[in-house]
Amino acid sequence: MRFPFSLTRSMTGYLLRKKLAGQKRFPLVLMLEPLHACNLRCVGCGRIREYADWAKHRLSVDECLAALEDCGAPIVSICGGEPLIYPEIQQLVQRILARGKHIYLCTNGLELRRKLPLFEPSDRLFINVHLDGMEATHDAIVQRPGVFAEAVAGLRAAKDAGFMVCTNTTVYRETDVHEIAVLFEYLSEFDVDGFMLSPAYGYEAVYDKCGDRAAALFMTRDEIHAKFREARGLLSRHRLVTSPVYFDFLCGRRELTCAAWANPTYNIRGWKGPCYLMTDAHYRGYAELLAATDWERLGPGGDPRCEHCLVHCGFEPAAVFAANRRLRDMLKMAVWQMT
Ligand code: SF4
Repeated sequence: MRFPFSLTRSMTGYLLRKKLAGQKRFPLVLMLEPLHACNLRCVGCGRIREYADWAKHRLSVDECLAALEDCGAPIVSICGGEPLIYPEIQQLVQRILARGKHIYLCTNGLELRRKLPLFEPSDRLFINVHLDGMEATHDAIVQRPGVFAEAVAGLRAAKDAGFMVCTNTTVYRETDVHEIAVLFEYLSEFDVDGFMLSPAYGYEAVYDKCGDRAAALFMTRDEIHAKFREARGLLSRHRLVTSPVYFDFLCGRRELTCAAWANPTYNIRGWKGPCYLMTDAHYRGYAELLAATDWERLGPGGDPRCEHCLVHCGFEPAAVFAANRRLRDMLKMAVWQMT
C-alpha cells in the first residue's frame, strides 16, 4: 500500500463524517509553521524573505496545538522555516501524535542525523526530506555545498532507524526530469517510502523578494504541463505520492478547482489568507479565514495572481474532493493507494 493503513482509515472516516455533516469546506492538512528561521537560504524560497522580520519569533507548542484544535485537520505538515531547529520540536511531535493525528515533518535534512534520537518511529510520522536534484543541482538551489550529502545521510539514518521517509521535490523551469529519474532511482536503493513532486510557481513573495535569478526558475501553466507530461513517462514507475488525479491536472489532462481552504497555513501571525502562497491578511481563527475569503474568486480564471498556479497545497486536496465525486476517479485513487 502506498500509505499506511492508519492514514487511509483515518482519512476515509474523516471525509465520511464531514460528508454526513454536510460540511462544504474543511481542512485536510494543517500547514503548521512554528517558526520562520532557517539554516539555509534557498534560491526559490519566498517564506524566509516574506517573514524576514519575524525570524526571531516562534509559536509556542500550546499555540500550535490550539491551531490544530481550531481547525481539526487529521494531518499536520510541520514546515517553516526549518522545523528541526525549533527548540520544542520533540514535544510538538509527541503532543500532535498523542492526539491521533498524522504528521509530515518537513526538513532540509541538515539537522536530521543529530535530531533523530528525539523521535520514535511511528506509522503516523513521515519524515519528509527536501531534495530538488542530484548533488550539484540541489546544492546550487539551496546555495550551500554539502547539503545534498548531509540530507541523504540523514534520510538513510532515518530509514535505518525504522522511520517512514519520503522526499519532496520542486520542479523548476531548469529542472531536467531525467535527473529527477536518476535521483528517484538512487533514493529507491534506500527504500524511500514515497516521492512528492510539486511544480514551482512564481507567487508575489518570490517575485518581489528573490530577484531575477529566482524569477527565472518559475514556470507558466503551459510549461508546467509540458514538463509533467515528460515526467510522467519517466517517473511513474517510482513510488510517487503525488496522486494520479493531481498528476493528470499537472499534465493538462483535466481541470481542478483550487481547494486552498483544505490546506490552511498557521504561523506566528495567525491563519494566513488566502493560501499557503499568497498573503492578503492573517486571521485569528480558521473559521474567520473561511468566512473572510472569497473562495469562488480564487484559482486560474479568477484572481490573476493564480493564473499559473498548479501547486500541491491548492490542488492535491482538490484531487481528493474530485475523486470523491466521480466513480472513475475514486477507482483510480483506490488502485493507486493499493499498489
Ligand atoms: S490557485 Fe489556489 S493555491 Fe494557487 S495561488 Fe491561487 S489561491 Fe493560492
